[in-house]
Amino acid sequence: MSSADPVSDDTVSADGAVAIEGVRHAYGEVTAVGPVDLTVPAGEFLVLVGASGCGKSTLLRLIAGFEQPTEGTVRTAGEPPVPGRGAGLVFQQPRLFPWKTVGGNVALALKYAGLPATPERVDGLLARVGLHDVAKRRIWQISGGQQQRVAIARALAVENPLLLLDEPFAALDALTRERLQEDLRQVGADTGRTSIFVTHSVDEAVFLGSRVVVLTPRPGRIALDLAIGLPRTGAGAEELRGSPEFAALRAQVGHAIRETPVAPLR
Ligand code: ADP
Ligand code: MG
Repeated sequence: MSSADPVSDDTVSADGAVAIEGVRHAYGEVTAVGPVDLTVPAGEFLVLVGASGCGKSTLLRLIAGFEQPTEGTVRTAGEPPVPGRGAGLVFQQPRLFPWKTVGGNVALALKYAGLPATPERVDGLLARVGLHDVAKRRIWQISGGQQQRVAIARALAVENPLLLLDEPFAALDALTRERLQEDLRQVGADTGRTSIFVTHSVDEAVFLGSRVVVLTPRPGRIALDLAIGLPRTGAGAEELRGSPEFAALRAQVGHAIRETPVAPLR
């Protein structure tokens, strides 16, 4: 973009970006997360990794605007997040409406976002997550992996620049999980959305992320903030997973997770 352009680079890059400043969140007396400072530039695929209970979901809910931080500020696209508005959300369970068809679920998300829910648009969104000829099926007629694809299509339907995913593949079998990782990585590259993906799998983090942030056990703080330089397009999934670069990054992230002390069970 030329410097004479009235729309400055700043304005453009603020779109979809997340700024977390001095954020701490407590439930009653217990600090779940923070203090955390984190800036996510537009277009980044950020993966948050950490042990169970370290505050990953809390951080995601703060970014979605479902919780207000006890201390500090969260901004998405320069504004305080509005619950249900600023981001597309995907959870561990697909949370689809079982009485609607696959297409009906996606159409509902389009209507909710004030967009025309034409069959072409619905089919286009389903195709983007690798689903073809399933729009008329009922939710219980498709597999768990396909249901999670529908949940991602629904989140993409909203067309806002931010996608928040909380362990979306945790309930899937290993093979289905790898397929979905590969397709989601492609969706990220195709749409250029800013994505924040939560997992406790080191492999998943390194494969998906353009950047991986490791959190300490509760209260979650940043233990490692690592740029992942693996190619986002062109390279095959098998080639990537088998590369020495992938192994080195996985070791680095795994080390950061093991190095931080594990919180006692209670
Ligand atoms: P993670 O997603 O990393 O497993 P969470 O963000 O769900 O972690 O939880 C972080 C900590 O905060 C945990 O100790 C959890 O028990 C606690 N916690 C989460 N949600 C609530 C809540 N609504 N009320 C009280 N404590 C909570
Ligand atoms: Mg969680």
